[in-house]
Amino acid sequence: MKTILVSRCLFGVPCRYDGASCPYPGIDALSKRFTVVTVCPECDGGLPVPRPAGERRGDRVVTKDGADLTAYYVRGAEATLKVAQASGATIALLKSRSPSCGGGRIHDGTFSGGMTDGDGVTAQLLKENGIKVYTENDLAKLLAEN
Ligand code: SF4
Repeated sequence: MKTILVSRCLFGVPCRYDGASCPYPGIDALSKRFTVVTVCPECDGGLPVPRPAGERRGDRVVTKDGADLTAYYVRGAEATLKVAQASGATIALLKSRSPSCGGGRIHDGTFSGGMTDGDGVTAQLLKENGIKVYTENDLAKLLAEN
C-alpha cells in the first residue's frame, strides 16, 4: 500500500490558525487505498493554535500586521519533507489555499480574500523534492493517478 501525507486539519484535527478543523469526507476513501500519515506544517514548525493568519508575499510569510513568520513556515516545510522521506510517501493531499499546504492557488498576501497562482511553502518544497501534491479538490484525479 502506498503512503500518502494528508493535512491534519482535513483529518478533523482542530489545528488551523483559528482553532478549527476542516473535516474532509474523502478521508475514508483515502484510508482504504493508502497508508495515511498526517502532517500540520505550521504546528510542526512551532506555531501555536490559535495563531495569527499568515499569507505569502514572495519568499516571505507575514501576518496582516507585518510580523514575519517565514522561519516557522520554512521549519514546518522541512519537518514535513523529513516525514515524507522517512515514511516513503511520494504523494500528498494537502489543504487548498493555505500558505503552507496550498497547491497551485493561494491567498495573495493582501489579506483581502484574493487568490493568486502559487504554492504554499510546504507544498512547494514537497514538489521540489519529487512528491506529487494534490488538494482536497483533486480526489478523483489523485485516485485515478495513483
Ligand atoms: Fe491544515 Fe496545513 Fe494549515 Fe496545518 S498548516 S492547519 S495542516 S492547512
